[in-house]
Amino acid sequence: MNKLKKFWYKYILRRKYYRTGTCRGCGACCTHIYVKHMNGVVKTQAEFEKLKLLHPFYSYLVVLGEDETGLYFECKNLDKETKKCAIHKKRPAICRRYPQEQIFMLGGTLKEDCGYSFVPIDSFSDVMKKIQNKQQK
Ligand code: SF4
Ligand code: SF4
Repeated sequence: MNKLKKFWYKYILRRKYYRTGTCRGCGACCTHIYVKHMNGVVKTQAEFEKLKLLHPFYSYLVVLGEDETGLYFECKNLDKETKKCAIHKKRPAICRRYPQEQIFMLGGTLKEDCGYSFVPIDSFSDVMKKIQNKQQK
């Protein structure tokens, strides 16, 4: 079963990590969000207004502040008291799939107390074995 799972994730889904854990419902991923697109992290409101035309998800975001990385946002559907999503059943696909390993490729990380974690599909010893096998050829 493990071999089949590994094959599925690695070669069919083309993943490098297994996602483990569950959501603790802390709401941290719905606030202090940086928005990254082709030109990097959004730094100006004008840039952000253009993005809103491309994907409806962006219209949920409001600017919270700005730092050396760029603008950071909060989703207006986040209930600040309960930390729950006000549109949970109708939340966008990007939220349903969160977190995905692509966040690492986009320069992001998991929020500090996120209940999820990512484990490499190929363990360190698997990688070492591959290197040794190549060297012996
Ligand atoms: S729509 Fe809901 S789940 Fe998605 S970012 Fe907003 S509050 Fe979070
Ligand atoms: S940061 Fe992680 S644990 Fe918290 S709401 Fe988001 S996915 Fe769930």
